[in-house]
Amino acid sequence: MKASQFFISTLKEAPADAEVVSHKLMMRAGLIKRLGAGIYNYMPMGLRVIRKVENIIREEMNRAGAVELLMPVVQPAELWQETGRFEKMGPELLRVKDRHERDFIIQPTSEEVITDIARQELRSYRSLPKNFYHIQTKFRDERRPRFGLMRGREFTMKDAYSFDRDEASAGKSYEQMYAAYQRIFERLGLTYRAVAADTGAIGGDRSHEFQVIADTGEDALIYCPNSDYAANIELAEALPLITTRGAATKPLTKTPTPGKSTCEDVAALLGVPLQTTVKSLVLATDEKNEAGDVLKSTVWLLLVRGDHQLNEVKAGKVPGLKDGYRFATVAEIEDHFGCKPGYLGPIGLKKPVKIVADRTVANMSDFICGANEIDFHITGVNWGRDLPEPDVVADIRNVVEGDPSPDGKGTLAIQRGIEVGHVFFLGTKYSKAMNATYLDETGKPQLMQMGCYGIGVTRIVGAAIEQGHDERGIIWPDALAPFRVVICPIGYDRSAEVQTAADQLHDQLQAQGVDVMLDNRGERPGAMFADWELIGVPHRVVISDRGLKEGKVEYQGRRDAQATSVGVGEIGAFLT
Ligand code: ATP
Ligand code: MG
Ligand code: MG
Ligand code: MG
Repeated sequence: MKASQFFISTLKEAPADAEVVSHKLMMRAGLIKRLGAGIYNYMPMGLRVIRKVENIIREEMNRAGAVELLMPVVQPAELWQETGRFEKMGPELLRVKDRHERDFIIQPTSEEVITDIARQELRSYRSLPKNFYHIQTKFRDERRPRFGLMRGREFTMKDAYSFDRDEASAGKSYEQMYAAYQRIFERLGLTYRAVAADTGAIGGDRSHEFQVIADTGEDALIYCPNSDYAANIELAEALPLITTRGAATKPLTKTPTPGKSTCEDVAALLGVPLQTTVKSLVLATDEKNEAGDVLKSTVWLLLVRGDHQLNEVKAGKVPGLKDGYRFATVAEIEDHFGCKPGYLGPIGLKKPVKIVADRTVANMSDFICGANEIDFHITGVNWGRDLPEPDVVADIRNVVEGDPSPDGKGTLAIQRGIEVGHVFFLGTKYSKAMNATYLDETGKPQLMQMGCYGIGVTRIVGAAIEQGHDERGIIWPDALAPFRVVICPIGYDRSAEVQTAADQLHDQLQAQGVDVMLDNRGERPGAMFADWELIGVPHRVVISDRGLKEGKVEYQGRRDAQATSVGVGEIGAFLT
């Protein structure tokens, strides 16, 4: 490929809304272009990287015996009504109507459609097991799209779905996918960790996330350095739901909506102006019946400030507080979320603190309403989604660094990660809801056992940059680079020798199947080098008259401090 034919568009400065390094560099290197909040054009340079990610995933999925198909982006609502997710999923699910006023959704994932295919096509035990996958555009109307492709609203996901006759066989499918994921992330050249995870809205029992290790990651992981134990604390996302029943000295002006509370909502719920300082905040989860009545509320966290209360707490005067638990202070909460006072965003926790659990809001309200001033500002509070089921995270959510690991093999460490893949054992959750059965050997219908397996294709591009960059730009792993080699001729338009040597090397590498770029734009060397360092091409060859006189070209790896002189005749072999 020659630069004059291709499209290169680099920027000196990143746009102001880019917070993390990957977003900044993707914008500066011209990989993506913003169209709207969480919606991006994949520009030619960026698309090359995305395709490389897709190809590695596709090869490994095929190797693991999965079969590729392609399901529609726009899906009829009926299927989603069968499983109840059309109502249950909340505002993240984009619902649209066609000209006949019929309901559709833009797929955020595809369990319903694939289960519909399976119940029609996989009739007998002889057609099982099967694993179908696709690499397709997803849309999730994220509350807070950010970090460029890492939390987009429109993004590309590889999602696979396995169908098995029994749990043992489904377990094998799960293990196969887990192993395929390990191969994929190794081939992508990423430092990652597989962790036990909460199953979230998709449901099911068994689940692991593949997390790319990065300080900017939104997830907090605990692991034991001496063993395989690793889990997602999920606490950052586990604190979102806020109810104000406990603080109901004033009547509520609105019904709390789980997972939807913004700072404005909180203020409205409390019935106070936005800037009001509140006495305490209770984060709680409500168990509701079908009619939406609250059956039981569990308090997860209580922010109390004011010596009066704190002294009471210190004196252990809180009835029903479990041994080893205490209230978190505001300072701890700030520390906990790892962000500035007045802004508790879903960035995640830096360090977990002990949480008050298993107390009902009713029990708590007397206590809260009994005390008076507290100076906790609710300005800028922005919580994410529903709390996970308490029993899922109860045993890991109260952990701090240095605590003994659950397997008894050492103490726990904490690091941050970017969730790039997720494998779920679903059991019969969807097959039951949609009546997806096969006939066993005796002709009896049996529910299929399912698993689902996602990879964030476009998120991986961002995650790879979080792991590979320096002050000059991106440093791609070879497997992901938009071009593996860039040829930078000095004086391409001025020197016939330079032009011939550059063209020859380009043609030779291209013939050998190397992804090569020849920069024939006629840029000054400084600007040309800066562009390719920003774009992150791993291998650079500089061809100049001076070098050619000695029969040499200059090779420099993106991570190398210095260039190496290589013979013109040897450079082809050197690079392959
Ligand atoms: P997150 O916790 O980051 O919101 P998720 O758990 O909701 O992700 P899954 O339903 O497990 O996501 O989807 C499978 C994969 O799709 C995730 O592991 C992630 O890599 C990717 N993904 C999910 N949401 C987004 C998004 N908004 N933008 C880009 N990739 C995403
Ligand atoms: Mg999500
Ligand atoms: Mg998640
Ligand atoms: Mg997930």
